[in-house]
Amino acid sequence: MKLTNEIVIEKAKAIGFDLVGFAKAELLKSESEKLEEWLIRGYQAGMSYMERNQKKRIDVSQILPEAKSIISLAVNYYTDHQYTNNPAYGKVSRYAWGKDYHLIIWEMLERLEKELKKIDQAFESKSYIDTGPVMDKAWAVRSGIGWLGKNTNVINKELGSWIFIANIITNYEFDYTSSIPDFCGSCTACIDACPTDAIVQEYVIDSNKCISYLTIENKGELSQEFKGKFDNWLFGCDICQDVCPWNYKFAKQTVVSDFNPNNNNEEISLQEILNMPEKDFRERFLESPISRAKLSGLKRNAEFLSR
Ligand code: SF4
Ligand code: SF4
Repeated sequence: MKLTNEIVIEKAKAIGFDLVGFAKAELLKSESEKLEEWLIRGYQAGMSYMERNQKKRIDVSQILPEAKSIISLAVNYYTDHQYTNNPAYGKVSRYAWGKDYHLIIWEMLERLEKELKKIDQAFESKSYIDTGPVMDKAWAVRSGIGWLGKNTNVINKELGSWIFIANIITNYEFDYTSSIPDFCGSCTACIDACPTDAIVQEYVIDSNKCISYLTIENKGELSQEFKGKFDNWLFGCDICQDVCPWNYKFAKQTVVSDFNPNNNNEEISLQEILNMPEKDFRERFLESPISRAKLSGLKRNAEFLSR
């Protein structure tokens, strides 16, 4: 049987994806020009992997030669837990409160791809979350999942930006959904609220200044220029999303229970981190995105916040 948009949407939603869009597999010319400029300015900081595989990023046929379409998918991860803002505790970015989203979404993608292939053996695909040389946000925007906000997050009118994005590159042709307008308008709340001025211009983040990068990917020391500006963020930073009206007005509770905080991971005692042995770290953050920062990174962050 031939696959249609409706069949894909029905199957994807039954598996738990909240949003589905379809884009033609064309060259991402304008998006990769912007990426190139961002790299030239050095805004990738220590994320040198962003400099690699540019051919694949611009052209998905370098990944799947017979690529015709991208199925863009999103999963809402918002849960309504709130921070206590106790200064003895460091805050964790909302996306990392529960089980690692890669583990959850990889399973969902695998199920979806299998089901689609079962309907039509001719369906070939390769899927990505935010790993691999695929411009995930660009495809989400092209397929109408949302628009790219000035804080560089993809924002959906019904769910805000608390969404994980996944993309399936496929040899299949679909009816393509159109992208939606930019609803940021004259708002600059995210730019005004960023404590380290990391949003250097609308739609451009300098990772060298971004708390999210500095507390997770960054392997070096934290510069004294940021002292007192971290607002007690231990892992990641959600300020530019928390202040976004599309989030505080429209966010809805996820149905995926695994995104609820594990072990009260929304805020963690700084003292506990400073005294934590490697074995406890591995146990406590097994299957948590927090493990990405490694214990040495978390200790560095906890020290920076408590000094
Ligand atoms: S994540 Fe935090 S530091 Fe980074 S741009 Fe947003 S508000 Fe600024
Ligand atoms: S805070 Fe305002 S400018 Fe920033 S992403 Fe949200 S709507 Fe756009």
